[in-house]
Amino acid sequence: MKIAIYPGSFDPVTKGHLDIIERSSKMVDKLIVGVLNNGSKNPLFTARERVEMLNEVTKNFNNVKVEAFSGLLVDFAKETNASIIIRGLRAITDFEYELQMAQTNRILKNDIDTVFLTTSLEYSYLSSSTVKEVARCNGDISKFLPEYIAKKVYDKFKKEC
Ligand code: ADP
Repeated sequence: MKIAIYPGSFDPVTKGHLDIIERSSKMVDKLIVGVLNNGSKNPLFTARERVEMLNEVTKNFNNVKVEAFSGLLVDFAKETNASIIIRGLRAITDFEYELQMAQTNRILKNDIDTVFLTTSLEYSYLSSSTVKEVARCNGDISKFLPEYIAKKVYDKFKKEC
């Protein structure tokens, strides 16, 4: 059974992430979306909220499972029997960091490979942090996120503006 992990912060999940989830889930038997529960990043949504939101928007993908994890990705891969890491590449600026992470993970666990999917062109500009900037003062984020997620983001910012 071919199992892959698509790890990330997903704070919040965007249409760019969903595009990668949809495409990569067709390449493997099981895709685990790994929500990084990293205390040092100060996310907008808690890990539990991010898992719940991802569960909602991936509910129609039969072989996709969403799980939070903390600690090393290679340890999470071992626990879940995953042999593939999926990452998305938007621009050359992503490349250096992603290459470094992929090489490091392979040194830490030599039977794991990172597979990069290039972003679909319509989402190549899209990042969770940009979405949060636009939403902070009520800009229109409907093109970036599923409606369900957009509502959750506005609810978070309601108190600020
Ligand atoms: P991280 O903090 O690990 O970068 P993100 O949630 O920002 O977490 O991203 C998770 C993964 O999704 C990364 O591989 C990132 O490059 C990819 N990604 C983010 N936005 C897009 C997008 N618009 N198109 C394709 N891939 C994307």
